[in-house]
Amino acid sequence: MDEHDPRRRIPRTDALLRLPRVAAAAQALSDGVVRTIVRGVQERARAGELAPEDVEAAVITAVEGRRTSSLRPVINATGVIIHTNLGRAPLSPAARTALADAAGYVDVELDMGSGQRSRRGAAARAALLAACPAAEDALIVNNGAAALVLATTAFAAGREVLISRGEFVEIGAGFRLSDLIESTGARLREVGTTNRTRCEDYAAAMGEATGCILKVHPSNFRVSGFTAEATLPELARLAGARAVPLIADLGSGLLSADPALPAEPDLDSALRSGADLVIASGDKLLGGPQAGLLLGRADLIARLSRHPLARAVRADKLALAALEATLNGPEAPVARALHTDPEALRARTEAFAEDLRARLSAQPHPRQGPGPDSAALAVVPHDGRTGGGGGAEVPLPGWALRLPEAAARALRTGEPAVLPRVHDGTCLIDLRCVPDETQPALLTAVAVALTATGAP
Ligand SMILES: *Cc1c(COP(=O)(O)O)cnc(C)c1O
Repeated sequence: MDEHDPRRRIPRTDALLRLPRVAAAAQALSDGVVRTIVRGVQERARAGELAPEDVEAAVITAVEGRRTSSLRPVINATGVIIHTNLGRAPLSPAARTALADAAGYVDVELDMGSGQRSRRGAAARAALLAACPAAEDALIVNNGAAALVLATTAFAAGREVLISRGEFVEIGAGFRLSDLIESTGARLREVGTTNRTRCEDYAAAMGEATGCILKVHPSNFRVSGFTAEATLPELARLAGARAVPLIADLGSGLLSADPALPAEPDLDSALRSGADLVIASGDKLLGGPQAGLLLGRADLIARLSRHPLARAVRADKLALAALEATLNGPEAPVARALHTDPEALRARTEAFAEDLRARLSAQPHPRQGPGPDSAALAVVPHDGRTGGGGGAEVPLPGWALRLPEAAARALRTGEPAVLPRVHDGTCLIDLRCVPDETQPALLTAVAVALTATGAP
């Protein structure tokens, strides 16, 4: 490099790190992250993409704008309650507090009175048993898939799992329960047909090699038309006669029957109907943290707890804290969204639209032309969905605010980020899953998005 090469004027790393604004912002970041940012900017300058004079400013902007976690909160305006891509169930305020409290040292496995070790997660287990009286005992693991792996490993590794051909479920992203079960060394013994499976089909397949009978709730699809399935009481008689566990994977985690989802099975009823063990996720309709719940007969839960794999799939202290608080606290956001009264939602949406029109007409118009035509904002009927949690096909009647489709991208990339529903060339804002306290921020985000897109 000769002495006139502009690259000689690129500030050195230590000089950049000493800049007061860089040093201040760096307090909130690891050394590695700060050095990577600095190196990246210097390299752009060396490549001629940036003038050496602009390096300081670029480093300051990059360091000040860097967050330690890239996960951004998103306002869910889709009307889909258990939105898989948005992390499923949002936690209740009680669960969020418990989560923060559990973030430091906590007595998750210690009796403070005696100073002795205690059973891990005993309080979360007790809360679960109180909410599901038909269960003798419960075990909490990492997620629903882990619960299924643990149960099929413990009861059927090297043996057969009897499962209906109508219940070969793919739960998402190419992830199939059948592959999961076979990965444990259990063999799948398919019974019946896709649309019709009777109790006799299971009976005919039962034999020396049977490890367990598994009934899987098709939580994301529905088989309709010429169909038949064996009921839990029938299967319970069959399984009981051969002393083989009957396991019901319900997926959704509805603790008890809910009139909003009449066809959705619940844990308590499934146990009363004869299932020896039920499996569910904590972050679907139960509305809690990611967790896998196993409830049922005490002897079976004891076998699962003692299995070496139980240690590999155990729930972490944060999940235990949040689950207990979800169960003991007031109605969680998932249940609130599910039980939203359509007329109340309509009134809320009309009021939101009115506030938005007022906001738009008050604001000085940044562009030429007609600009936002506030009269075009209409409140239209819009069905919500439970989403990935179960009751997949059940429409939840409601209302939404209709915006031009162009607003969707501006909303997704705005601050705060908003995910609307894009449907039929329109952008819909459904308030079902938007907490009251978030509504003012949403109003601002929508006004900004509409103004930025010059729409409607
Ligand atoms: C969702 C689901 C699972 C998997 O649970 P995760 O908590 O996602 O691991 C298993 N079985 C059924 C029926 C499900 O619906």
